[in-house]
Amino acid sequence: MISKDNGKHKPTLVSSETSTNHKLQTSNFKLQTYQLTDFLPTTKKELELRGWDDVDVILFSADAYVDHPSFGAAVIGRTLEAAGFRVAIVPQPDWHGDFRDFKKLGRPRLFFGIAPGCMDSMVNKYTAARRLRSEDAYSPDGRHDMRPEYPTIVYTKILKQLFPDVPVILGGIEASLRRVTHYDYWQDRLRPCILCDSGADLIIYGMGEKPIVELAQRVSDGFAIGDITDLPQTVFLKPADQIPGGIRPDDIVLHSHEECLQNKRAQAENFRHVEEQSNMMHAHRILQPLKSPRSQQLSAEPTVVVNPPYPPMTTEELDASFDLPYTRQPHPKYKGKHIPAYDMIKFSVNIHRGCFGGCAFCTISAHQGKFIACRSKQSILKEVEQITRMPDFKGYLSDLGGPSANMYGMHGRNLNACEKCRRPSCIHPQICPNLDTNHSKLLDIYRAVDSLPGIKKSFIGSGVRYDLLLYRSKDEAANHAAQEYTRELITRHVSGRLKVAPEHTSDRVLQLMRKPSFQQFYEFKRIFDRICREEHLNQQIIPYFISSHPGCHEQDMAQLADITRKLGFHLEQVQDFTPTPMTIATEMWYTGYDPYTLEPVFSAKTPKEKEAQRQYFFWYKDPQNSQKSQNSQKPQKSQRPHTPQPPHDHHRTNPHPEKPDKEKRGRHRRH
Ligand code: SF4
Repeated sequence: MISKDNGKHKPTLVSSETSTNHKLQTSNFKLQTYQLTDFLPTTKKELELRGWDDVDVILFSADAYVDHPSFGAAVIGRTLEAAGFRVAIVPQPDWHGDFRDFKKLGRPRLFFGIAPGCMDSMVNKYTAARRLRSEDAYSPDGRHDMRPEYPTIVYTKILKQLFPDVPVILGGIEASLRRVTHYDYWQDRLRPCILCDSGADLIIYGMGEKPIVELAQRVSDGFAIGDITDLPQTVFLKPADQIPGGIRPDDIVLHSHEECLQNKRAQAENFRHVEEQSNMMHAHRILQPLKSPRSQQLSAEPTVVVNPPYPPMTTEELDASFDLPYTRQPHPKYKGKHIPAYDMIKFSVNIHRGCFGGCAFCTISAHQGKFIACRSKQSILKEVEQITRMPDFKGYLSDLGGPSANMYGMHGRNLNACEKCRRPSCIHPQICPNLDTNHSKLLDIYRAVDSLPGIKKSFIGSGVRYDLLLYRSKDEAANHAAQEYTRELITRHVSGRLKVAPEHTSDRVLQLMRKPSFQQFYEFKRIFDRICREEHLNQQIIPYFISSHPGCHEQDMAQLADITRKLGFHLEQVQDFTPTPMTIATEMWYTGYDPYTLEPVFSAKTPKEKEAQRQYFFWYKDPQNSQKSQNSQKPQKSQRPHTPQPPHDHHRTNPHPEKPDKEKRGRHRRH
């Protein structure tokens, strides 16, 4: 039975504040008041305010509850609510003591959902040097003690202890990118599918709106969770002799977890399949036994079953998700506190999902895939109008973007070719001639947004792919639009500093990163400087770089320092490579192989090697590195560049050092 009350409540305009109301000002001198019931309930009292005596689904979130389309728990909660289910969210439950936060709402009618957060919990907690961060951007006042390590595992174990017969469903980046055997940098070991370590029943990977509704409907119709084995985009464990339909000819059977533990090459070979299938229009089912086929009692051994994903969302489906009745506010319980991640995105708008860049260090490829799903212009404008009515909005949008700034509306011209395509990137190693790189739809969005009353300027904060701007295809209209976009971007949408991500200066390293040649950065910078001169604009390019990426030797960093010094950059936006689960760069770093060619790849692994590379970013602070960078053309004794090294094990470092570090988070979504 689906709950009759779908919980939709419109914001009401009133002239005074009541005791249970959270007071928000509007323009027009009226107070827009969101009642507590305009947020998904988080306590027993809030359930009572809605007149509910039970709930269908309870979500446990490791992030604070911000009712905004950029926060996963809110998206899943609002999606289920719109489908007619009663949903409650328990944000950042206390996992110590008597587990009262896990008990307080009782048992849900259908299942528990775990939303471990917008970032992998370990990336959130630790720096690339495995130092504890001082701030958690997704917690009130940045408190760093509000989530455990691996909340997916910790929350599930508690729930299974308290309510052993209630299904637990995993979602979010942490579970999605740990769906098969993966390397865990913080424990320095391969771990199996996270269902094994957590004891949960099912993973929904990728963007979860479609599978979560279908799942809730089926459970509501009386299906046992263990019998739901054909739902796209889900992962479950089954004994090998109970795999639905048996092993089919078109299934992809990965090396077992056990084989991967014994043989790094097997792990590298697996990743190629996982990445290809995550980026195909019509993917295959993936099976991964936990034990190797030679093991006895195979039939009783569990196998991880990864069903293929849903097709990319249509514009209508994506609009329906973004148009849900979010308040766009943190829950009133955080009144007077600031949530750093919310402060960052509250005046920004996400206009598309997916990314066809395929950067080696980025997780988007395995989470959202390469096909671009776009919102309609109407839906985007509606959200912008909502922002203009926010009390502290001063007319400046901080971002109109997505995983990358300028892929909106782009897709293959011949979709039949795309349907069969296995490439993990549409633009690397070369831009696919089938890709329509026309920027006109994006320009149309920018212009429509800028013409709205209340908008003074819209900035582009997402990373711009300058290789798409420089690309010249046979389509003159597309070439013209790219030039027009470039000028408009530089003259109207830069807040003084345009951040772009060449990531390195060595073309050999860039090739492994799946980024364009550094020559393209020079070319783009020339255009940027010329346009700024012509328009009398005092603006800068701010480049991002990464050290210790697989393939990068110390001499490559010395060259990087030399080149950026000659270009006059004092680097700020830099990062030491963090191996995060399920990226090709992580697999190269751990296994020592390129998963596609199986050629050996060198990686700097020890803290000493990594620190030596990182120091080259700061040549202007360290005269010794400045001298080394100037001499970079002469190989030094300790640097044996460009020589492929055999795979080797790296050393475990202390994962719990005492000194906190404010280094930037690992970049999951950046180009
Ligand atoms: S055919 Fe080209 S445009 Fe289409 S998905 Fe493949 S790489 Fe991308």
